Amino acid sequence: MYVEQPFDELKVSSDKRRVAYFYDQDVGNYFYGTGHCMKPHRIRMTHSLIMNYELYKKMEIYRAQPATNLELTQFHSDEYIDFIDRVTPDNVHLFPREAHIFNVGEDCPVFDGLSEFCKISCGGSMEGAARLNNGMADIVINYAGGLHHAKKSEASGFCYTNDIVLAIIELLRKHPRVLYIDTDVHHGDGVEEAFYTNDRVMTCSFHKFGDFFPGTGVVGDIGIGKGKYHSVNIPLRDGIDDASYKSIFEPIIQHIVDWYQPSAIVLQCGGDSLSGDRLGSFNLSMRGHANCVNFVRSLRLPMMVLGGGGYTIRNVARTWAFETGICNGELLSKELPYNSYYEYYAPTYELDVRSSNMNNANSKEFLDKLLTQVIANLDHTKHAPSIQMQEVPPDREDLGDVDEDMAEAIDTKGGSQMSRDKVVEKEGEYYSDESKDKGEHNIFEHQHESATQAPRKDVPIITSEEVHAAVEDDTQAARILFEDEKAEIDALNRDQEMAEAA
Ligand SMILES: [Zn+2]
Repeated sequence: MYVEQPFDELKVSSDKRRVAYFYDQDVGNYFYGTGHCMKPHRIRMTHSLIMNYELYKKMEIYRAQPATNLELTQFHSDEYIDFIDRVTPDNVHLFPREAHIFNVGEDCPVFDGLSEFCKISCGGSMEGAARLNNGMADIVINYAGGLHHAKKSEASGFCYTNDIVLAIIELLRKHPRVLYIDTDVHHGDGVEEAFYTNDRVMTCSFHKFGDFFPGTGVVGDIGIGKGKYHSVNIPLRDGIDDASYKSIFEPIIQHIVDWYQPSAIVLQCGGDSLSGDRLGSFNLSMRGHANCVNFVRSLRLPMMVLGGGGYTIRNVARTWAFETGICNGELLSKELPYNSYYEYYAPTYELDVRSSNMNNANSKEFLDKLLTQVIANLDHTKHAPSIQMQEVPPDREDLGDVDEDMAEAIDTKGGSQMSRDKVVEKEGEYYSDESKDKGEHNIFEHQHESATQAPRKDVPIITSEEVHAAVEDDTQAARILFEDEKAEIDALNRDQEMAEAA
């Protein structure tokens, strides 16, 4: 069943998609600490490349409203968010018990502005979701998002708040079924867990497995209850290359899309699956990584592109810039334009990340077995009565065990949008008209608003018009908005050099 496709040159269809890109110029200022491999600065480097490749001429650029504490508690527990909001490097010693319970410390340190950083990350993804919901964009991008390990009441793997779960909850206001795809080298455990019992979200994670963080995501983890067969895991071994990744990614995603028929896709583009990553051990080139973005884009569904891991930051910036080009139907040229961080790209000064000659421990036999099992899991319930592919939400009588739903919703918050809706759903409010056929039982028609929170308002702070105007005023273009960053960057570079010399 596994057929290895040669990895040919990427071909991107040039048809127009409306792309909304979210960026907050504060995001690069947050610093996890000397020696910590997670560097928000990579998002600013990415942005500088994007602007200097003049992609701002093709897409809308927004600064999202940071998420509020109330918005964060649509998924996270009140106590946890209250802690994140109050804790600082200066007072963390006063909260030893909370720090232990909420797992902050070494991997997930308390740094200056932690809460703001979380709110920027989540605000971008939530507002991106709102923008997809109101039909104003076909593709939304937030590289400050994609922090897939965060749990309801626990920081994990450099992630504190789970922007992905919050964005998917937002998408579920409008979309009957959402597909989440995770190409980070680590298992997307936080997102999987949040929707493990839910059939309105399918999660699909490609990751390294075996003596590797977080240690979850075996092929047999398929979801439970109503969510059974709605979690897909592809545990891979070291050194996977472009051809084998493409040859397993594309058939699985195509199969899921055909079978599950999602109406929106969230793609986490963790850059630690690239060759030469400081933590990862895959062997994807920039183009091999970007092929995932290109393939998902070719499915022509509303699409959210998020960041994630990625610890060789010059390669992360290169790849995310290149992928932003693909979202806009453009293959960026190899020659790097001059940009604020040009020196990071020595010695090649090229927009490229190459594969190495490392061994690919994923044999054809291994990949064949994996693919066969994943497809078998999906096909298993193809004709099962519980998974009818009618428009959702289904008829009232098909809602299933409401008490069970409620328990799930309370358990995970946002774990089940349907059950959260149930809280305020009046008797007969939806779909009481028996004469309507199934096709009309459509979430879009009914404006199925969630009750627990007002939908996120889609009000940009910086509009692309302002950016465009600034650009026309001055050929120095994109730098105008970010003039004030330069001094801080220099300081940061010095810090980094010192840290690396130490
Ligand atoms: Zn990762």
